[in-house]
Amino acid sequence: MEKVKVRDKYFAVSIPEAEIKRRVAELAAQISKDLQGRKPIFLSVLNGSFVFAADLLRGITTDCEITFIRLASYSGTSSTGEVQQILGLNESLEGRTVVIVEDIIDSGLTMERLLESIRSLHPAEVRIAALLVKPDNLKTELDIPYCCFRIPNDFIVGYGLDYDGEGRNLPDIYTVVAD
Ligand code: 5GP
Ligand code: MG
Repeated sequence: MEKVKVRDKYFAVSIPEAEIKRRVAELAAQISKDLQGRKPIFLSVLNGSFVFAADLLRGITTDCEITFIRLASYSGTSSTGEVQQILGLNESLEGRTVVIVEDIIDSGLTMERLLESIRSLHPAEVRIAALLVKPDNLKTELDIPYCCFRIPNDFIVGYGLDYDGEGRNLPDIYTVVAD
């Protein structure tokens, strides 16, 4: 098995590029069919989703828009102890069909808070599109209508996902392995 080293860890391919492309195209076709005529706005959550979003969007065949957001968490006084701010959102979401594009959903807590923030902006509907979901780690009830792959709880990199800032350029998805 061929391994790559990213910083101090070794990784092996777990989902090859061709399989990712095939699955992302399937998901794009499904989204296009479901949201035909609703002019969805895709919200790509940076940094991790930039590669997925680029491939997904090119498979969308209905009129749409895309915008890129960043999440900033800071300690605050909400019930979760953390307040989340959405950076970079200049478009109004009022009455819009919104599709959140995320790289990976692990505990689901980030997504739960993001959904709450997005819903406060009064969209007509919000749907989640995730490249990867770790179902065994989910700590919240999330409806994830569009998911490319369900994976075990191992740490992964590649196809936009990083390990401490590196590895985003790898075209395949890699799982951490022993060295
Ligand atoms: P959650 O709030 O769902 O637990 O966390 C989601 C975030 O954790 C993702 O957006 C991502 O930044 C990070 N994350 C979770 N699992 C992985 C993983 O296996 N690899 C990488 N690179 N990031 C991960
Ligand atoms: Mg992310």
